[in-house]
Amino acid sequence: MLQATGQGLYIHIPFCHQRCHFCAFYLEIHHARAADEFVASLLTELRLYGERGVLGPTPLDSIYLGGGTPTTLSSRQLATILATSKQMFGLAPNAEVTVEAHPGSVTRDSLAHLHEAGFTRVSFGAESMDQTELDRVGRPGSPASTIHIMAVAREAGFTNINLDLMYGLPDQTMGSWATSLQRTIDLAPEHLSCYALTVEEGTHLKTAIQRGLVPAPDEELQNRMEDLAEEILSRAGYDRYEISNYCRPGFASRHNRLHWTGGHYLGVGPSAQSYLDGLRFGNVSDLTAYTTALKSGRLPVSESDHLSEEVDSCERLVFGLRLIDGISLEQTGALSFPELTQEVNKLLVDDLLERNGDVVRLTTRGRRYADTVAVALMASLNE
Ligand code: SF4
Repeated sequence: MLQATGQGLYIHIPFCHQRCHFCAFYLEIHHARAADEFVASLLTELRLYGERGVLGPTPLDSIYLGGGTPTTLSSRQLATILATSKQMFGLAPNAEVTVEAHPGSVTRDSLAHLHEAGFTRVSFGAESMDQTELDRVGRPGSPASTIHIMAVAREAGFTNINLDLMYGLPDQTMGSWATSLQRTIDLAPEHLSCYALTVEEGTHLKTAIQRGLVPAPDEELQNRMEDLAEEILSRAGYDRYEISNYCRPGFASRHNRLHWTGGHYLGVGPSAQSYLDGLRFGNVSDLTAYTTALKSGRLPVSESDHLSEEVDSCERLVFGLRLIDGISLEQTGALSFPELTQEVNKLLVDDLLERNGDVVRLTTRGRRYADTVAVALMASLNE
């Protein structure tokens, strides 16, 4: 079973060159001047936290630059952000240092520079290996650029690469999904994330569906696609270790593991979330408010919540259940709260959870209803 190890730093880079039709994340369209100003603010934020010693003396086990598209920033800017992070918090030997990238936003030189600067892992948003499917959701780039950039990243020295894929895209079929999976496997990434397309409020995709221009995702088809991914990827030697994540043995993402095992992480950048010692807090989702706060020496935190022990245990349980191997009830602290254990027992009877000794996990049926299980566990605290 995956155990929480160390602590992590998440750095949110809020820029993209354009917005994909399905995307509801907080982001800004990249402009060089805004990016320079953002980087200056981010370095201030890292220093403020570093000087306050919020992470204590333990060095970081994981740094993750996500977005947005972090590689809208230059490799020089990204290297400076990494150097300041290391200087402020320290980095454990063999730490995982990930940067998310769009295949079209990096080059041979920038990848070589990032590797030299200390990034150990790159995560490319491939999404599909079918050009028509990418075009239908307004996703820039092409399968050819993914194939090309994988070879370039290997040459640059990256030995730990993730590719993101999506299923349930408009007009995607079981056949085209199988082909995307196979083309991805042929690129031999160490890690693969497969996400079901979801339709978020306020997105271009939602509007297109409402106008009848694009079909809505078919849940039953998405379930079959999820099963197909597990079948094809396990045959190719990938372990499914979390609902949406697969890896070659030994390549489970440490950043993900921190989130799912109740590990501590500090989030910096607009809209980034943190969890430290039962305190959950989040930054303002607005670049102007973010930079204004930091220019006046204030942290840009807009919300914080001291979790009660009960809620903390419940959240640990909910996150831990995303792991295919499940989580130890004792480790979550859930056994101290009768309403939580009663709800777990109900979910066991409903065949949504299964238990082996102290460990609970979602059943195959339960994985389909992971959100329902999470809501039921949280709701049990209010009954
Ligand atoms: S690249 Fe990622 S963050 Fe940017 S718009 Fe597309 S889905 Fe959203």
